[in-house]
Amino acid sequence: MKNVDESEIKKFENLASRWWDQNSEFKPLHEINPIRVNYISKVINLAEKKVLDIGCGGGILAEALAHHGAIVTAIDLASTSLAVAKLHNLESKLDIDYRQISAEDLAEKESQAYDVITCLEMLEHVPKPASIVKSCFDLVKPGGLVFFSTINRNPKSYLFAILGAEYIFNLLPKGTHEYVKFIRPSELATWCRESKLELQEQIGMGYNPLTKNYYLQDSLDVNYIAYYERPK
Ligand code: SAH
Repeated sequence: MKNVDESEIKKFENLASRWWDQNSEFKPLHEINPIRVNYISKVINLAEKKVLDIGCGGGILAEALAHHGAIVTAIDLASTSLAVAKLHNLESKLDIDYRQISAEDLAEKESQAYDVITCLEMLEHVPKPASIVKSCFDLVKPGGLVFFSTINRNPKSYLFAILGAEYIFNLLPKGTHEYVKFIRPSELATWCRESKLELQEQIGMGYNPLTKNYYLQDSLDVNYIAYYERPK
C-alpha cells in the first residue's frame, strides 16, 4: 500500500499555481523560510552538500537550500507543484533536480546517498509518517543529518494552528491541517529511535499575529523543528 493520501496531493495540486505568490495560501511558508533555512545553515554548512528535500512543493525551501550552495534533489508527488517548481528553477537559474517519486521508492534506489535531508511541514500530511522517517534513515549517509518540522498535537496547537491560522487570521485555507495528524515531539522521537536516528536538537517556531512576526523559541507547543543524526 502506498503511503500517500491522494486527497492531500489534490489539495496541493489545486493551489500549485500560487506557490511563488508571497500573498497566497503559501505566505506563511515564505515567511518562515528564512528562519528555518538560517537555522539549518547554522547547524551545517550546506555548501557542496548533497541535500534531499522531501515534500518540496513548489520549491520554496529547495531553492533557499540551493542558494546556500547545496546540491539539491527535491521530491514530491504533486505533479503540478513539481511543474511550477521546475519553471521557477529555470527563472532562478538554479540546478535543482526535481523528481516525482515517493521517499520510500527513492530509498530503494539511493541508499545512503545524501548528507542532509529536509522534510519540513510534510509528515502531518501522510498516512504513515513513520515510514517516511525510516526512508530518511535509509537515504541519509552515516553521520548525515535529517531535519523534520511539523505541528505538535495539544489544545494549544489546535487553537493556534487550526482555529487561529485557518479560522481567525485566515493565514491558511480551512482544511489545510487535520488535528489528528499533528505529531507530538515524543511520537516523532519514537519513530526516529525505531529507525536508529539520534536526536540532536528540537526548537520551536512562534508567530505573533499582531506584529505578524515569526521567530524561533524554546516552546515546542505548536510548530517545531527537530533534527536527527544517522550514527556514523
Ligand atoms: N516542504 C515544503 C512544502 C510543505 S507543504 C515547505 O515546507 O515549504 C506539504 C507538501 O508535502 C506538499 O507539497 C505535498 O504535495 C507534499 N506531500 C504530501 N504527501 C506527500 C507524500 N506522500 N510524498 C511526497 N510529498 C507529499
